[in-house]
Amino acid sequence: TIGSLAIDSKGNLAGACTTSGAAYKLHGRVGDSPIIGAGLFVDGEVGAACATGLGEAVIRTAGSAIVVELMRQGLSPKDACEEAVKRIIHKHKDLTNLQVGFLALNKDGVYGGYSVYAGFNWAVVDNKGGNRMEDAEYKK
Ligand code: ASP
Repeated sequence: TIGSLAIDSKGNLAGACTTSGAAYKLHGRVGDSPIIGAGLFVDGEVGAACATGLGEAVIRTAGSAIVVELMRQGLSPKDACEEAVKRIIHKHKDLTNLQVGFLALNKDGVYGGYSVYAGFNWAVVDNKGGNRMEDAEYKK
């Protein structure tokens, strides 16, 4: 999955999401990426979020919508992603092969992400540091 979140100089938010789906998927399977609220959610008043990983787990928790709602309640993007990941972990007894990562960006341009397993990273393009890769442990 490739999820992309953006904010312009006026604070307008946008998001996009595309995927090849899960490996060995059943014909006709619909993953989280095309479902607004699951793989992607943008609320121009609050922030934007997208997901990658096991789509069924993301759909079951309305993952990206939850991340945005948690930001609305005041959580930082990273903390909102972590809370959404915790909900997924809570719902699954077996986390074998269950990687899910969320990425979030709020109205102030603050962003962050979190995943079930380490190794989820993302690319950042802004006017501060050029193009770079970051992850949940990245120190700005
Ligand atoms: N989220 C996608 C899906 O379940 C898969 C992926 O992230 O690679 O369809």
